[in-house]
Amino acid sequence: MATNENKHPAYDSTRISVWSRLKTEIFQSDFLAPMDVDLQDVQFTRRVSVYRLMLLLMLTSVGTIVIESLLFAPLTASIIWVSLLGWLLLAATALWLHRHSRILVPPILALGFNIGIVLWASAMGASHQTLWLFPLMIGLAGLLPTSVALIIGMTTLCIFMWTEGLNREPQELAQTAALFATWVISLAVMRLMTHQADQLADLALSDPLTGAYNRRYMQPQATRSLADYQRYARLSSLLMVDIDHFKLINDSFGHAEGDRVLKAIVSLIDNRIRGVDMLFRLGGEEFVILLTEAGALTATKIAEELRISISKMETTVGRRVTVSIGVCDVTLAESAEDWLTKVDEAMYTAKQQGRNRVYTLQSTSTPDAKISSTLPIWR
Ligand code: GH3
Ligand code: MG
Ligand code: MG
Repeated sequence: MATNENKHPAYDSTRISVWSRLKTEIFQSDFLAPMDVDLQDVQFTRRVSVYRLMLLLMLTSVGTIVIESLLFAPLTASIIWVSLLGWLLLAATALWLHRHSRILVPPILALGFNIGIVLWASAMGASHQTLWLFPLMIGLAGLLPTSVALIIGMTTLCIFMWTEGLNREPQELAQTAALFATWVISLAVMRLMTHQADQLADLALSDPLTGAYNRRYMQPQATRSLADYQRYARLSSLLMVDIDHFKLINDSFGHAEGDRVLKAIVSLIDNRIRGVDMLFRLGGEEFVILLTEAGALTATKIAEELRISISKMETTVGRRVTVSIGVCDVTLAESAEDWLTKVDEAMYTAKQQGRNRVYTLQSTSTPDAKISSTLPIWR
């Protein structure tokens, strides 16, 4: 994370006040601009995109409340000011909470706040209930998948217009239509932003030559699998695959042929592992495969099958390519780094034993020994 510090002072420095974070977010960062591809931490990337999105929704909502109440339905001034202040506070809270990874708290607060305002507005006799329906839907949209939010929103609006539309003034219908249009636009923007964020995350996380995930993505995934094991006893395994005497291929046939072999091996592995498994290129001719829901036994079978398939693979260089594979399941890992070190050792043993083989590290302790029952539920 150290290298991100200079690029994203608004997110990374504890000494910066909430106001300067807000200021940086609003005035200096480009809301719709693609994020920096050179981010070190994927979770950080996702969090930033979620918070930018929320800020956008909150500001849209404030704008809509103010403009539409001025144009169409003058409401008690206190309601407008309280909602405006409330949204700004929420935006500041969202930025502040970002540091504490409480990612669900701001949308839940936003939704609660909206419901409170709806009830208050009704109690004060506000005639334009649709005004409150809109931010409520935005709050929902922050929590639900876009498609579900869109279906709920459209159904609600259809029912609303169907039951009340016939008796209402054209001005009121226009207001409902304007609300609906604004809402659809904010959903579309949200979609665009998440899509952009996903595309950029893909770029930042994959290796350009082979298309496999890169090393940067491996660490968080291994950490996640380790946490899954510690909390839910879910097994997973790492395979470390290293091509045997790859340097010879480069030396004999050239670097371009070497690249072709790398791509062919990635394509073969990718076709054989399941959708839930992940393939990472660690660097050079070394790959790591993360197998989900697979202990040492299953992982060894998969590794053996991969080894045989690769050794039978036709290559453009007209010679067989073999790999050595190390296997280590999650029960042996103390940390993500430790897991990687161990699987690397296993691969090294396979090399020492003569290459073109699989070596599996055997667990000595009982798998359940490391599962903690004292982890907090809400974190
Ligand atoms: P071993 O069986 O001990 O693993 O021998 P090796 O030759 O495979 O291992 P070594 O680490 O000596 O060589 C790895 C080679 O991989 C050296 C380097 O030229 C080559 N290499 C690394 N990255 C790339 C790449 O992106 N493309 C190509 N074509 N070659 C690469
Ligand atoms: Mg090698
Ligand atoms: Mg190597």
